[in-house]
Amino acid sequence: MTARKIPLAGVIGSPVAHSRSPHIHRHWLKAHGIEGYYIPMDVGHDDLARVIRTLPRMGFVGVNITIPHKQAVLDVADQVTDRATLIGAANTLIFRKDGKIHADNTDGYGFIENLRSGAPHWQPEAGPAVVLGAGGAARAVLASLCDAGVPEILLTNRTRARAENLQEEFGKRVQVVDWVQAANIIDIAHLVVNTTSLGMVGKPELRVPLDGLGKQHVVTDLVYAPLKTRLLQVAEEAGATTVDGLGMLLHQAVPAFERWFGVRPEVDAATRAAALE
Ligand code: NAP
Repeated sequence: MTARKIPLAGVIGSPVAHSRSPHIHRHWLKAHGIEGYYIPMDVGHDDLARVIRTLPRMGFVGVNITIPHKQAVLDVADQVTDRATLIGAANTLIFRKDGKIHADNTDGYGFIENLRSGAPHWQPEAGPAVVLGAGGAARAVLASLCDAGVPEILLTNRTRARAENLQEEFGKRVQVVDWVQAANIIDIAHLVVNTTSLGMVGKPELRVPLDGLGKQHVVTDLVYAPLKTRLLQVAEEAGATTVDGLGMLLHQAVPAFERWFGVRPEVDAATRAAALE
């Protein structure tokens, strides 16, 4: 008789207690009747490589990686997908049967899937996108917008040099605009994306003037605590189509769950409710 193996997965970050990922994956495990566990693990930088290398020997099939390890984990992996290399970070590790650690980034996939499901009429080629912020999340957003065929991306960030670095990496389709000029580019955009942490609980409000927003815009915020940020509130009042950031978190989890547990889960109302529990 072969021993029954219970698949384990989890999320590694520091801090990690606030993560919604355990709620999402545990919901799907239960919904699909899979006998498995998803565990939050607070791991410091110095222990990262050792912990990751030990997990497959304990029955782990993979893990999510979150702040502050998304970049560092690329050095631990044996194989890195092209999209994780382009984004410069990984959020998903798959522990393969041959012992290799495979790193991928599903944030861009989650971003686009959320946008497509929340704003089905959005057409990438229809006009420029304004992206606020040039941190880690912006990299995944830029990669997926380029991939989707957005013709022009107007990138603005408080620290201009960070936006210029991204322009160098992502090429001519990305134009850098001064942070103080952000309000002036919203008028001409088709899509507006906030990738900064502004508007998040405990962070300052996004103070960019939003008078230019109207019903022609699709507006999405990566911040999902609160679910309805000031940006989304103002956009909604102006008649724009709004898409909140929780869906991105849910959709980025789909490919990981499928790779680890062999079932492609649905992002539905019950998944959203579970994430918010
Ligand atoms: P990050 O790498 O630390 O980048 C933070 C960004 O916010 C930078 O562009 C930074 O500008 C800007 N910012 C911070 N404080 C600011 C201020 N006072 N004024 C103007 N700009 C300011 O963080 P990240 O990983 O990209 O995450 C950004 C946000 O996205 C977070 O709220 C995170 O929770 C959210 N997120 C959501 C999802 C999802 O699934 N929905 C996924 C990933 C991230 P500077 O460069 O000038 O510092």
